[in-house]
Amino acid sequence: MDALLPPRGTAQWQAADAAHFLHPFTDFGALAAQGSRIITRAEQLYLWDSEGQRLFDAMSGLWCVNVGYGQQALIDAATRQLQQLPFYNAFFQTATPPAIELAELLAELTPPQFRHAFFTGSGSEGNDTVVRMVRRYWDLQGQPDRRILISRNNAYHGSTMAGASLGGMKSMHAQGGLPIPGIVHIDQPYLAAYRRQRPAAAGLDEEEFGLIAARWLEKKVLELGPHRVAAFIGEPVQGAGGVIVPPASYWPEIQRICDRYDILLVSDEVITGFGRTGHWFGCETQGFRPDLMTFAKGVTSGYIPLGGVMVGERVARTLIELGGEFEHGYTYSGHPVACAVAVANLQLIREQRLVERVHDDVGPYLAEQFATLAGHPLVGDVQTSGLMGALLLVREAAGQSPFRPDQPVGMVCRGHCFAQGLIMRAVGDRMIVAPPLIISRAQIDEMMALIRHCLDLTLADVH
Ligand code: PLP
Repeated sequence: MDALLPPRGTAQWQAADAAHFLHPFTDFGALAAQGSRIITRAEQLYLWDSEGQRLFDAMSGLWCVNVGYGQQALIDAATRQLQQLPFYNAFFQTATPPAIELAELLAELTPPQFRHAFFTGSGSEGNDTVVRMVRRYWDLQGQPDRRILISRNNAYHGSTMAGASLGGMKSMHAQGGLPIPGIVHIDQPYLAAYRRQRPAAAGLDEEEFGLIAARWLEKKVLELGPHRVAAFIGEPVQGAGGVIVPPASYWPEIQRICDRYDILLVSDEVITGFGRTGHWFGCETQGFRPDLMTFAKGVTSGYIPLGGVMVGERVARTLIELGGEFEHGYTYSGHPVACAVAVANLQLIREQRLVERVHDDVGPYLAEQFATLAGHPLVGDVQTSGLMGALLLVREAAGQSPFRPDQPVGMVCRGHCFAQGLIMRAVGDRMIVAPPLIISRAQIDEMMALIRHCLDLTLADVH
Protein backbone atom coordinates (compact mmCIF):
# COMPACT_ATOMS: atom_id res chain seq x y z
CA MET A 1 0.00 0.00 0.00
CA ASP A 2 2.74 2.44 1.02
CA ALA A 3 4.56 1.91 -2.24
CA LEU A 4 1.51 3.39 -4.00
CA LEU A 5 1.58 6.58 -1.98
CA PRO A 6 3.15 9.52 -3.79
CA PRO A 7 6.60 10.53 -2.65
CA ARG A 8 5.42 13.99 -1.55
CA GLY A 9 3.18 14.85 1.38
CA THR A 10 -0.18 16.62 1.16
CA ALA A 11 1.18 20.10 1.93
CA GLN A 12 3.80 19.80 -0.80
CA TRP A 13 1.29 18.61 -3.37
CA GLN A 14 -1.04 21.45 -2.42
CA ALA A 15 1.68 24.06 -2.71
CA ALA A 16 2.79 22.87 -6.15
CA ASP A 17 -0.86 22.57 -7.22
CA ALA A 18 -1.73 26.12 -6.18
CA ALA A 19 1.45 27.44 -7.79
CA HIS A 20 0.99 25.88 -11.24
CA PHE A 21 -2.33 24.18 -11.92
CA LEU A 22 -5.38 26.16 -13.04
CA HIS A 23 -8.21 23.71 -12.35
CA PRO A 24 -11.43 23.49 -14.40
CA PHE A 25 -14.61 24.90 -12.76
CA THR A 26 -12.68 26.10 -9.74
CA ASP A 27 -12.45 29.39 -7.88
CA PHE A 28 -8.71 29.95 -8.24
CA GLY A 29 -8.56 32.27 -5.23
CA ALA A 30 -10.32 29.79 -2.96
CA LEU A 31 -8.08 26.97 -4.13
CA ALA A 32 -4.96 29.02 -3.44
CA ALA A 33 -6.25 29.88 0.03
CA GLN A 34 -7.56 26.46 1.07
CA GLY A 35 -5.60 23.96 -1.04
CA SER A 36 -7.18 21.09 -2.91
CA ARG A 37 -7.85 17.57 -1.82
CA ILE A 38 -5.31 15.28 -3.46
CA ILE A 39 -6.76 11.96 -4.63
CA THR A 40 -4.09 9.32 -4.97
CA ARG A 41 -5.71 5.98 -5.69
CA ALA A 42 -8.96 4.08 -6.11
CA GLU A 43 -10.49 0.64 -5.96
CA GLN A 44 -13.98 -0.44 -6.97
CA LEU A 45 -16.09 2.50 -5.75
CA TYR A 46 -13.73 3.91 -3.14
CA LEU A 47 -11.09 6.61 -3.44
CA TRP A 48 -8.23 7.42 -1.10
CA ASP A 49 -6.75 10.87 -0.59
CA SER A 50 -3.15 11.78 0.23
CA GLU A 51 -4.00 11.73 3.95
CA GLY A 52 -5.10 8.11 3.62
CA GLN A 53 -8.80 8.92 4.12
CA ARG A 54 -11.17 6.60 2.28
CA LEU A 55 -14.03 8.22 0.34
CA PHE A 56 -17.17 6.56 -0.96
CA ASP A 57 -17.40 7.84 -4.53
CA ALA A 58 -21.13 8.29 -5.01
CA MET A 59 -20.50 10.36 -8.17
CA SER A 60 -18.51 7.81 -10.23
CA GLY A 61 -15.66 10.29 -10.62
CA LEU A 62 -17.55 12.81 -12.75
CA TRP A 63 -20.51 10.61 -13.73
CA CYS A 64 -18.22 8.36 -15.70
CA VAL A 65 -16.55 5.48 -13.84
CA ASN A 66 -19.53 3.23 -14.46
CA VAL A 67 -17.69 -0.09 -14.09
CA GLY A 68 -15.84 1.12 -10.98
CA TYR A 69 -12.11 1.54 -10.48
CA GLY A 70 -9.41 -1.06 -11.10
CA GLN A 71 -11.06 -3.21 -13.80
CA GLN A 72 -8.23 -5.34 -15.16
CA ALA A 73 -9.90 -5.94 -18.55
CA LEU A 74 -9.73 -2.23 -19.35
CA ILE A 75 -6.16 -1.91 -18.11
CA ASP A 76 -5.12 -4.90 -20.24
CA ALA A 77 -6.88 -3.56 -23.33
CA ALA A 78 -5.05 -0.22 -23.00
CA THR A 79 -1.69 -1.92 -22.39
CA ARG A 80 -2.05 -4.25 -25.38
CA GLN A 81 -3.05 -1.42 -27.70
CA LEU A 82 -0.29 0.88 -26.44
CA GLN A 83 2.22 -1.83 -27.29
CA GLN A 84 0.78 -2.65 -30.69
CA LEU A 85 -0.18 0.78 -32.04
CA PRO A 86 -0.40 3.69 -29.57
CA PHE A 87 -1.65 6.14 -32.16
CA TYR A 88 -2.71 6.55 -35.67
CA ASN A 89 -5.30 8.96 -37.00
CA ALA A 90 -8.51 8.35 -38.90
CA PHE A 91 -8.16 11.25 -41.35
CA PHE A 92 -7.85 10.87 -45.13
CA GLN A 93 -9.23 7.35 -45.48
CA THR A 94 -7.18 5.57 -42.86
CA ALA A 95 -8.51 3.60 -39.89
CA THR A 96 -7.34 1.37 -37.05
CA PRO A 97 -8.99 -1.90 -35.97
CA PRO A 98 -10.13 -0.68 -32.50
CA ALA A 99 -11.97 2.33 -33.98
CA ILE A 100 -13.74 0.11 -36.52
CA GLU A 101 -14.60 -2.44 -33.85
CA LEU A 102 -16.01 0.23 -31.54
CA ALA A 103 -18.13 1.79 -34.29
CA GLU A 104 -19.50 -1.66 -35.10
CA LEU A 105 -20.22 -2.46 -31.45
CA LEU A 106 -21.95 0.89 -30.89
CA ALA A 107 -24.14 0.25 -33.94
CA GLU A 108 -25.20 -2.99 -32.27
CA LEU A 109 -25.85 -1.52 -28.79
CA THR A 110 -27.65 1.69 -29.78
CA PRO A 111 -31.27 1.91 -31.02
CA PRO A 112 -31.81 0.57 -34.57
CA GLN A 113 -31.78 3.95 -36.36
CA PHE A 114 -28.05 4.24 -35.56
CA ARG A 115 -25.52 2.54 -37.81
CA HIS A 116 -22.68 5.09 -37.79
CA ALA A 117 -20.44 6.72 -35.17
CA PHE A 118 -18.31 9.88 -35.38
CA PHE A 119 -15.59 9.95 -32.71
CA THR A 120 -14.29 12.90 -30.70
CA GLY A 121 -12.15 13.33 -27.60
CA SER A 122 -14.92 14.49 -25.25
CA GLY A 123 -18.60 15.22 -24.82
CA SER A 124 -18.07 18.92 -25.50
CA GLU A 125 -16.41 18.14 -28.82
CA GLY A 126 -19.28 15.76 -29.52
CA ASN A 127 -21.77 18.60 -29.14
CA ASP A 128 -19.66 20.91 -31.30
CA THR A 129 -19.82 18.16 -33.90
CA VAL A 130 -23.61 18.06 -33.52
CA VAL A 131 -23.91 21.78 -34.29
CA ARG A 132 -21.80 21.51 -37.44
CA MET A 133 -23.40 18.25 -38.54
CA VAL A 134 -27.03 19.34 -38.26
CA ARG A 135 -26.32 22.57 -40.14
CA ARG A 136 -24.46 20.62 -42.81
CA TYR A 137 -27.40 18.22 -43.06
CA TRP A 138 -29.88 21.01 -43.72
CA ASP A 139 -27.54 22.65 -46.27
CA LEU A 140 -27.37 19.35 -48.13
CA GLN A 141 -31.13 19.04 -47.89
CA GLY A 142 -31.47 22.41 -49.64
CA GLN A 143 -32.82 24.15 -46.53
CA PRO A 144 -29.90 26.41 -45.53
CA ASP A 145 -32.17 28.65 -43.44
CA ARG A 146 -32.51 25.87 -40.87
CA ARG A 147 -29.69 27.09 -38.66
CA ILE A 148 -31.11 27.42 -35.15
CA LEU A 149 -30.64 24.84 -32.41
CA ILE A 150 -33.05 24.99 -29.49
CA SER A 151 -31.81 23.88 -26.08
CA ARG A 152 -32.94 24.39 -22.48
CA ASN A 153 -32.15 26.60 -19.53
CA ASN A 154 -29.99 24.88 -16.93
CA ALA A 155 -28.86 22.26 -19.45
CA TYR A 156 -25.20 21.24 -19.51
CA HIS A 157 -23.70 20.33 -22.87
CA GLY A 158 -20.02 21.01 -22.25
CA SER A 159 -17.49 23.79 -22.07
CA THR A 160 -16.34 24.54 -25.61
CA MET A 161 -17.85 27.62 -27.30
CA ALA A 162 -20.66 25.60 -28.90
CA GLY A 163 -21.07 23.23 -25.94
CA ALA A 164 -21.37 26.06 -23.42
CA SER A 165 -23.72 27.92 -25.78
CA LEU A 166 -25.99 24.89 -26.10
CA GLY A 167 -25.87 24.63 -22.33
CA GLY A 168 -28.26 26.86 -20.43
CA MET A 169 -26.06 27.90 -17.52
CA LYS A 170 -26.31 31.69 -17.23
CA SER A 171 -23.08 31.92 -15.23
CA MET A 172 -21.22 30.21 -18.08
CA HIS A 173 -22.78 32.47 -20.73
CA ALA A 174 -21.64 35.49 -18.75
CA GLN A 175 -18.00 34.53 -19.29
CA GLY A 176 -16.85 34.73 -22.91
CA GLY A 177 -19.77 36.37 -24.68
CA LEU A 178 -22.05 33.36 -25.08
CA PRO A 179 -24.23 31.97 -26.49
CA ILE A 180 -22.86 32.02 -30.04
CA PRO A 181 -25.45 33.03 -32.67
CA GLY A 182 -28.14 30.57 -33.67
CA ILE A 183 -28.72 28.93 -30.30
CA VAL A 184 -31.82 29.69 -28.24
CA HIS A 185 -33.20 28.27 -25.01
CA ILE A 186 -36.55 27.29 -23.57
CA ASP A 187 -37.28 26.47 -19.94
CA GLN A 188 -36.47 23.12 -18.35
CA PRO A 189 -39.11 20.60 -17.28
CA TYR A 190 -38.64 21.14 -13.55
CA LEU A 191 -41.94 21.31 -11.71
CA ALA A 192 -40.54 22.43 -8.32
CA ALA A 193 -38.94 25.51 -9.98
CA TYR A 194 -42.10 26.22 -11.99
CA ARG A 195 -44.21 26.10 -8.83
CA ARG A 196 -41.86 28.51 -7.11
CA GLN A 197 -42.39 31.07 -9.87
CA ARG A 198 -46.12 30.46 -10.13
CA PRO A 199 -47.88 29.73 -6.84
CA ALA A 200 -51.06 29.15 -8.88
CA ALA A 201 -49.40 26.02 -10.30
CA ALA A 202 -49.43 24.32 -6.89
CA GLY A 203 -52.16 21.86 -7.92
CA LEU A 204 -50.58 20.92 -11.25
CA ASP A 205 -49.61 17.27 -11.50
CA GLU A 206 -46.40 15.98 -13.04
CA GLU A 207 -47.95 14.65 -16.24
CA GLU A 208 -49.92 17.82 -16.98
CA PHE A 209 -46.77 19.81 -16.37
CA GLY A 210 -44.75 17.56 -18.72
CA LEU A 211 -47.06 18.50 -21.59
CA ILE A 212 -46.93 22.18 -20.69
CA ALA A 213 -43.11 22.14 -20.59
CA ALA A 214 -42.80 20.25 -23.89
CA ARG A 215 -45.14 22.73 -25.58
CA TRP A 216 -42.71 25.55 -24.74
CA LEU A 217 -40.74 24.00 -27.60
CA GLU A 218 -43.68 24.26 -29.99
CA LYS A 219 -44.26 27.87 -28.97
CA LYS A 220 -40.59 28.70 -29.61
CA VAL A 221 -40.58 26.90 -32.98
CA LEU A 222 -43.65 28.86 -34.11
CA GLU A 223 -42.16 32.12 -32.84
CA LEU A 224 -38.89 31.53 -34.77
CA GLY A 225 -40.54 29.97 -37.83
CA PRO A 226 -40.23 26.20 -38.31
CA HIS A 227 -38.23 26.71 -41.54
CA ARG A 228 -35.40 28.25 -39.43
CA VAL A 229 -35.14 25.52 -36.78
CA ALA A 230 -32.49 22.82 -37.37
CA ALA A 231 -32.62 20.77 -34.17
CA PHE A 232 -33.67 20.42 -30.56
CA ILE A 233 -31.13 19.06 -28.08
CA GLY A 234 -31.65 17.82 -24.53
CA GLU A 235 -30.32 15.48 -21.89
CA PRO A 236 -32.95 12.74 -21.31
CA VAL A 237 -32.47 13.43 -17.58
CA GLN A 238 -30.66 16.70 -16.85
CA GLY A 239 -27.52 15.76 -14.96
CA ALA A 240 -25.24 18.65 -14.04
CA GLY A 241 -28.33 20.85 -13.68
CA GLY A 242 -29.25 18.80 -10.60
CA VAL A 243 -30.66 15.43 -11.78
CA ILE A 244 -33.93 16.84 -13.01
CA VAL A 245 -36.04 13.83 -13.99
CA PRO A 246 -38.75 14.98 -16.42
CA PRO A 247 -42.37 13.84 -16.18
CA ALA A 248 -43.04 10.72 -18.30
CA SER A 249 -45.25 12.79 -20.61
CA TYR A 250 -42.43 15.20 -21.55
CA TRP A 251 -40.22 13.44 -24.09
CA PRO A 252 -43.00 11.75 -26.10
CA GLU A 253 -44.54 15.19 -26.58
CA ILE A 254 -41.14 16.64 -27.58
CA GLN A 255 -40.90 13.82 -30.12
CA ARG A 256 -44.33 14.67 -31.51
CA ILE A 257 -43.37 18.33 -31.92
CA CYS A 258 -40.04 17.53 -33.63
CA ASP A 259 -41.82 15.14 -36.01
CA ARG A 260 -44.53 17.66 -36.77
CA TYR A 261 -42.10 20.44 -37.75
CA ASP A 262 -39.44 18.12 -39.22
CA ILE A 263 -36.84 19.15 -36.62
CA LEU A 264 -33.86 16.92 -35.85
CA LEU A 265 -33.96 15.53 -32.31
CA VAL A 266 -30.64 15.22 -30.48
CA SER A 267 -30.23 13.28 -27.26
CA ASP A 268 -27.18 14.25 -25.21
CA GLU A 269 -26.37 10.90 -23.62
CA VAL A 270 -23.01 11.90 -22.13
CA ILE A 271 -24.28 11.07 -18.64
CA THR A 272 -27.32 8.91 -19.38
CA GLY A 273 -25.62 6.60 -21.91
CA PHE A 274 -24.42 3.05 -21.25
CA GLY A 275 -26.82 1.97 -18.55
CA ARG A 276 -27.03 4.87 -16.12
CA THR A 277 -30.84 5.10 -16.26
CA GLY A 278 -31.53 1.36 -16.49
CA HIS A 279 -31.53 1.06 -20.28
CA TRP A 280 -28.50 1.28 -22.53
CA PHE A 281 -29.53 4.86 -23.39
CA GLY A 282 -31.63 7.48 -21.63
CA CYS A 283 -33.80 7.99 -24.73
CA GLU A 284 -34.96 4.38 -24.30
CA THR A 285 -35.90 5.03 -20.67
CA GLN A 286 -37.74 8.22 -21.61
CA GLY A 287 -39.37 6.83 -24.77
CA PHE A 288 -38.11 8.88 -27.68
CA ARG A 289 -36.25 8.26 -30.92
CA PRO A 290 -33.39 10.69 -31.51
CA ASP A 291 -31.73 11.40 -34.88
CA LEU A 292 -28.35 12.02 -33.21
CA MET A 293 -26.89 11.01 -29.84
CA THR A 294 -23.86 12.53 -28.14
CA PHE A 295 -21.86 10.19 -25.91
CA ALA A 296 -18.65 10.30 -23.82
CA LYS A 297 -17.87 9.49 -20.15
CA GLY A 298 -19.37 6.01 -19.65
CA VAL A 299 -18.22 4.78 -23.08
CA THR A 300 -14.78 4.15 -21.53
CA SER A 301 -15.95 4.42 -17.90
CA GLY A 302 -13.67 7.45 -17.82
CA TYR A 303 -10.50 5.35 -17.91
CA ILE A 304 -9.36 7.33 -20.96
CA PRO A 305 -10.92 10.28 -22.81
CA LEU A 306 -13.32 9.47 -25.63
CA GLY A 307 -16.55 10.95 -26.93
CA GLY A 308 -18.58 10.98 -30.08
CA VAL A 309 -21.87 11.24 -31.87
CA MET A 310 -24.09 8.41 -33.03
CA VAL A 311 -25.52 9.50 -36.36
CA GLY A 312 -28.94 8.17 -37.30
CA GLU A 313 -29.61 6.89 -40.81
CA ARG A 314 -31.60 9.97 -41.79
CA VAL A 315 -28.55 12.20 -41.33
CA ALA A 316 -25.85 9.63 -42.15
CA ARG A 317 -27.34 8.76 -45.56
CA THR A 318 -27.45 12.42 -46.52
CA LEU A 319 -23.85 13.03 -45.43
CA ILE A 320 -22.60 9.91 -47.20
CA GLU A 321 -24.61 10.17 -50.41
CA LEU A 322 -24.70 13.94 -50.94
CA GLY A 323 -22.03 15.41 -48.72
CA GLY A 324 -18.55 14.81 -50.11
CA GLU A 325 -15.93 15.73 -47.55
CA PHE A 326 -17.12 16.68 -44.04
CA GLU A 327 -14.52 19.25 -43.07
CA HIS A 328 -14.49 18.44 -39.39
CA GLY A 329 -12.52 16.13 -37.10
CA TYR A 330 -10.01 15.91 -34.30
CA THR A 331 -6.52 14.44 -34.03
CA TYR A 332 -7.93 12.03 -31.48
CA SER A 333 -11.12 11.09 -33.39
CA GLY A 334 -11.02 7.30 -33.15
CA HIS A 335 -7.88 7.16 -30.99
CA PRO A 336 -6.93 3.45 -31.04
CA VAL A 337 -6.12 3.14 -27.33
CA ALA A 338 -9.29 4.95 -26.28
CA CYS A 339 -11.37 2.82 -28.64
CA ALA A 340 -9.76 -0.41 -27.41
CA VAL A 341 -10.60 0.56 -23.82
CA ALA A 342 -14.17 1.42 -24.86
CA VAL A 343 -14.65 -1.98 -26.50
CA ALA A 344 -13.36 -3.75 -23.36
CA ASN A 345 -15.58 -1.56 -21.16
CA LEU A 346 -18.74 -2.18 -23.20
CA GLN A 347 -18.06 -5.90 -23.32
CA LEU A 348 -17.67 -5.91 -19.55
CA ILE A 349 -20.96 -4.04 -19.09
CA ARG A 350 -22.63 -6.59 -21.35
CA GLU A 351 -21.02 -9.67 -19.77
CA GLN A 352 -21.80 -8.54 -16.23
CA ARG A 353 -25.33 -7.52 -17.27
CA LEU A 354 -24.88 -4.18 -15.53
CA VAL A 355 -27.66 -2.46 -17.46
CA GLU A 356 -30.14 -5.18 -16.46
CA ARG A 357 -28.89 -4.92 -12.87
CA VAL A 358 -29.61 -1.19 -12.80
CA HIS A 359 -33.04 -1.77 -14.32
CA ASP A 360 -34.15 -4.73 -12.20
CA ASP A 361 -32.19 -4.56 -8.99
CA VAL A 362 -30.02 -1.70 -7.76
CA GLY A 363 -31.97 1.05 -9.59
CA PRO A 364 -35.32 0.18 -7.94
CA TYR A 365 -33.48 -0.38 -4.64
CA LEU A 366 -31.94 3.11 -4.79
CA ALA A 367 -35.41 4.56 -5.54
CA GLU A 368 -36.87 2.71 -2.57
CA GLN A 369 -34.10 3.86 -0.25
CA PHE A 370 -34.23 7.47 -1.45
CA ALA A 371 -37.98 7.47 -0.87
CA THR A 372 -37.35 6.79 2.83
CA LEU A 373 -35.46 10.11 3.00
CA ALA A 374 -38.62 12.00 2.09
CA GLY A 375 -39.48 11.93 5.81
CA HIS A 376 -36.32 13.78 6.78
CA PRO A 377 -37.02 17.37 7.95
CA LEU A 378 -34.55 18.78 5.39
CA VAL A 379 -35.81 16.86 2.37
CA GLY A 380 -38.64 18.32 0.28
CA ASP A 381 -38.50 15.99 -2.68
CA VAL A 382 -36.58 12.98 -3.98
CA GLN A 383 -36.13 11.87 -7.58
CA THR A 384 -34.26 8.98 -9.14
CA SER A 385 -33.80 7.49 -12.58
CA GLY A 386 -31.82 4.25 -12.55
CA LEU A 387 -28.65 5.09 -10.66
CA MET A 388 -29.07 8.87 -10.72
CA GLY A 389 -30.65 10.39 -7.65
CA ALA A 390 -31.43 13.84 -6.25
CA LEU A 391 -32.64 15.20 -2.93
CA LEU A 392 -34.18 18.65 -2.83
CA LEU A 393 -33.27 20.32 0.46
CA VAL A 394 -35.92 22.63 1.88
CA ARG A 395 -36.30 24.59 5.08
CA GLU A 396 -39.59 23.10 6.15
CA ALA A 397 -40.26 19.90 4.32
CA ALA A 398 -44.03 20.01 4.67
CA GLY A 399 -44.29 23.61 3.52
CA GLN A 400 -41.78 23.09 0.67
CA SER A 401 -40.15 26.36 1.57
CA PRO A 402 -36.86 26.78 -0.32
CA PHE A 403 -33.65 28.13 1.10
CA ARG A 404 -32.58 31.57 -0.02
CA PRO A 405 -29.83 31.73 -2.67
CA ASP A 406 -27.56 33.35 -0.06
CA GLN A 407 -28.04 30.38 2.25
CA PRO A 408 -25.97 27.72 0.43
CA VAL A 409 -27.41 24.67 2.15
CA GLY A 410 -26.09 22.38 -0.58
CA MET A 411 -22.54 23.50 0.04
CA VAL A 412 -22.95 23.00 3.80
CA CYS A 413 -24.19 19.48 3.19
CA ARG A 414 -21.46 18.75 0.66
CA GLY A 415 -18.86 19.87 3.20
CA HIS A 416 -20.23 17.41 5.75
CA CYS A 417 -20.22 14.64 3.12
CA PHE A 418 -16.56 15.23 2.33
CA ALA A 419 -15.64 15.25 6.00
CA GLN A 420 -17.57 12.01 6.59
CA GLY A 421 -15.96 10.25 3.62
CA LEU A 422 -18.76 10.55 1.06
CA ILE A 423 -18.54 12.26 -2.31
CA MET A 424 -21.93 13.68 -3.19
CA ARG A 425 -22.44 16.70 -5.40
CA ALA A 426 -24.40 19.86 -4.55
CA VAL A 427 -26.26 21.78 -7.26
CA GLY A 428 -27.89 24.73 -5.55
CA ASP A 429 -30.24 23.12 -3.05
CA ARG A 430 -30.15 19.70 -4.72
CA MET A 431 -27.83 16.95 -3.46
CA ILE A 432 -27.11 14.38 -6.10
CA VAL A 433 -25.60 10.93 -6.54
CA ALA A 434 -24.66 8.79 -9.54
CA PRO A 435 -22.70 5.83 -8.16
CA PRO A 436 -20.89 3.23 -10.28
CA LEU A 437 -23.23 0.67 -11.86
CA ILE A 438 -21.39 -2.12 -10.03
CA ILE A 439 -22.72 -0.88 -6.68
CA SER A 440 -24.32 -3.61 -4.53
CA ARG A 441 -27.37 -3.33 -2.28
CA ALA A 442 -25.08 -3.48 0.76
CA GLN A 443 -23.07 -0.56 -0.64
CA ILE A 444 -26.28 1.39 -1.27
CA ASP A 445 -27.08 0.80 2.42
CA GLU A 446 -23.62 2.07 3.35
CA MET A 447 -24.13 5.18 1.19
CA MET A 448 -27.60 5.79 2.64
CA ALA A 449 -26.29 5.64 6.22
CA LEU A 450 -23.67 8.26 5.33
CA ILE A 451 -26.26 10.45 3.57
CA ARG A 452 -28.63 10.31 6.56
CA HIS A 453 -25.84 11.23 8.94
CA CYS A 454 -24.74 14.16 6.74
CA LEU A 455 -28.33 15.42 6.44
CA ASP A 456 -28.59 15.40 10.25
CA LEU A 457 -25.34 17.34 10.58
CA THR A 458 -26.55 19.84 7.95
CA LEU A 459 -29.89 20.24 9.72
CA ALA A 460 -28.11 21.06 12.96
CA ASP A 461 -26.04 23.72 11.11
CA VAL A 462 -28.79 25.52 9.26
CA HIS A 463 -31.33 25.76 12.07
N1 PLP B 1 -23.01 16.78 -22.12
C1 PLP B 1 -23.42 16.42 -20.90
C2 PLP B 1 -24.84 16.02 -20.68
C3 PLP B 1 -22.52 16.41 -19.83
O1 PLP B 1 -22.93 16.10 -18.60
C4 PLP B 1 -21.18 16.77 -20.07
C5 PLP B 1 -20.19 16.76 -18.97
O2 PLP B 1 -20.53 16.65 -17.82
C6 PLP B 1 -20.80 17.14 -21.37
C7 PLP B 1 -21.74 17.13 -22.37
C8 PLP B 1 -19.40 17.55 -21.66
O3 PLP B 1 -18.57 16.46 -21.71
P1 PLP B 1 -16.99 16.67 -21.54
O4 PLP B 1 -16.75 17.20 -20.18
O5 PLP B 1 -16.44 15.30 -21.80
O6 PLP B 1 -16.55 17.63 -22.59
